[in-house]
Amino acid sequence: MSLETAVAAQERLYGVCDYYDAESLLTAGERRVLGRLRVFLDEQARPLLAEYWERGDFPDQLAQPLIDLDLMEPVELTGAPGAEQTPARGIYQGFRIFELARTDASLATFYTAQAGLFRTAIRVGASAEQQAEWMPKVIDFSLKGVFSLTEPESGSDIAGGLSTSARREKDGEGDTWILDGAKRWIGGAASADVLAVFARDEADGQVKAFLVEREAAGVALEKIHGKTALRMMQNADITLTGVRVPESMRLHNVNSFRDVAAMLRAMRSDVAWIATGIAAGAFEAALRYVKERQQFGRPLGSFQLVQEKLARMLGNVTSALSLVVRLTEQQAKGIYRDQDSALAKMQTSLLMRETVALAREVVGGNGITLETDVARFHADAEAVYSYEGTHEINALIIGRALTGESAFTR
Ligand code: FAD
Repeated sequence: MSLETAVAAQERLYGVCDYYDAESLLTAGERRVLGRLRVFLDEQARPLLAEYWERGDFPDQLAQPLIDLDLMEPVELTGAPGAEQTPARGIYQGFRIFELARTDASLATFYTAQAGLFRTAIRVGASAEQQAEWMPKVIDFSLKGVFSLTEPESGSDIAGGLSTSARREKDGEGDTWILDGAKRWIGGAASADVLAVFARDEADGQVKAFLVEREAAGVALEKIHGKTALRMMQNADITLTGVRVPESMRLHNVNSFRDVAAMLRAMRSDVAWIATGIAAGAFEAALRYVKERQQFGRPLGSFQLVQEKLARMLGNVTSALSLVVRLTEQQAKGIYRDQDSALAKMQTSLLMRETVALAREVVGGNGITLETDVARFHADAEAVYSYEGTHEINALIIGRALTGESAFTR
């Protein structure tokens, strides 16, 4: 039986790491599409992961086959483009991220850079006319973009600290913006067509957003080397020197940082699903290992102290999955509050961090080699812990909602 047939025939896609059967919320069609993704990840991606992680390169040969899987708005779930379409459901999108992340955090981050970050920038920031033009290209990846917000001197305090400037030049000849500044950490920038760049309008002091061609004059990218987490994902430092962008490429619905915050709200929920997937992947890899590895003449999994760690890992994965599923159900009803996605990102990241540490522990020395998958999850979790709002920043968002007092200092 081929893997594809096996997946289709399987009653449960996620087995033990979906302990309370959240998968039953998916339709048969959604499970079929996710099964297709599973086959791709197991057959084509998994064999490359350790090698590319060690090299610090992204396996570019996976990008087009992944795009060809038609996962963003799958025709079989949403209807053919042009005909009447229903958008893919949030719960399907969540499990799509979960499936990617339980295989590899860089693959999940790579896909989410387009399907989450860039798509959200267009969905929230573009006018109706701009969306009509760009969104189909975002969905079929013919317009690849990245989200360029963070700066070298401003990470957590980007709302107040953002210093990339935008100056408008409007005369009889045309209507153009000139951007100057620097961005840091931008994921996937080197392979993007456009960079969604956030800059402060010199005239009114408000944050605006622009689609900048990656190859435009004045744009320079430099790969960030020496990362100890998410080594496969390519991140870049970007400098912008007198970059000219026509007014037509400004996202017309971004008029202040409030509009950027609306984007971050949606993106944090995606990262909560990534953290949950990483925890699940690490738990599954550890479980496989302790069933096989023998010490004192018995499998590691037969020892009480190991079983306690397995139980805690499963508890963490189950808590995280329950949390993101409920968040997604709330969002499907249109409830999107800053504190909701901040809580999900903060809490799933804590659970992820403990889970990968426990997984690494039960695998012993082999838990720091790339052989067992556990080391990769353990290292990569650190990047996910910090991006899309650090633990502290998400805690402050929740604290503000609870007390009515902002503890941010600006
Ligand atoms: P800092 O802001 O310098 O924070 C350092 C520490 O201080 C943290 O622990 C933080 O919580 C703490 N801290 C800061 N302020 C306070 C406070 N008021 N109270 C208490 N503690 C505080 N950005 C993009 O725009 N696009 C991307 O595609 C992107 N991809 C990324 C990929 C990776 C792998 C990483 C690591 C980052 C990425 N980022 C991206 C940037 C990411 O969002 C920032 O790293 C994050 O916002 C934290 O900023 P910082 O790293 O500058 O840390």
